[in-house]
Amino acid sequence: MEEGGPSDFLVTFHKIMIYGAIAMLIVAFLIWLFHQIKVSSIKNYKAKYDFIRKNEIQNYKYAFIVVAVGVAMFINTYGKDTLTFDTVWFLVRGFISVAGGTLVGYIGSLILQYYYPTKLDRKLKKWRYTPRINPQSGNKMRLLREDEEDVHLDEGMRAEEDVFSVDYDVWIDEMTGRTQVEKYPGHLEALQCNNCGFFTMKVAREEIVREATAEKEGELIKHYECQYCGSVRATQFNIAKEHNYEDYTPEKLAFKKNTSVNMVKLEILGTSGNKKNYTFQSVEQAEKFLSEFDMDSAQ
Ligand SMILES: [Zn+2]
Repeated sequence: MEEGGPSDFLVTFHKIMIYGAIAMLIVAFLIWLFHQIKVSSIKNYKAKYDFIRKNEIQNYKYAFIVVAVGVAMFINTYGKDTLTFDTVWFLVRGFISVAGGTLVGYIGSLILQYYYPTKLDRKLKKWRYTPRINPQSGNKMRLLREDEEDVHLDEGMRAEEDVFSVDYDVWIDEMTGRTQVEKYPGHLEALQCNNCGFFTMKVAREEIVREATAEKEGELIKHYECQYCGSVRATQFNIAKEHNYEDYTPEKLAFKKNTSVNMVKLEILGTSGNKKNYTFQSVEQAEKFLSEFDMDSAQ
């Protein structure tokens, strides 16, 4: 060991950190690369949509975590040529590296939570609305409008669409009449009915069994009713203390039939600054959606 130079332990430690940091960056790149390869290997657009929706943010999250570990390792090499072993310095640097890695991971999670969803949404829309090809005839298929698609859906599916829990797209090959139905998540959450299996369980009414006071929690029973088969279910909830009930009466909007409307865009801002965007094909649909809308179940 040279006088004033780094000890053998530190030399080894720094080597591990440097190679580790490089390895982490390579692993993060590989995670990203494998995700892209997997996406482009899926030929079916609907399957591609499902894969991206289910995995993309998750995989990017893993990549960010690995980058964060790499950054932490890299910070641990700071001052590596001048350092003689000093426990305090070593621990302080270790602590800073953890903080740095956490910061990088945190920034990554903010990006994925706030910035990325808009980009992901555009990507998903592209795969959802790219014209399908009939595998049997090779013809380009056409996406039916909401008012055209009903005859191709069964009653349960229509009930799911009516409560906005599931959105069905119906593609038709106009030359052969062959249709293809695709299922997408809707704008509002509904529970799955235990009886008929459709996602049509909605809160029919809420009953306050005991009002909440400043000292004690209240009790609320939500009565669910299946909008398709009519079966009912009740679940008890606690009401937080000192709850503020604000009267809210949605304004009735009186629209005429708007046949020339091509698209209705809705932006709903929540009290906590959260923002929800929706698009509809008709004014009637948007109106119906608003009457069903509930910020707590918005997706
Ligand atoms: Zn049911």
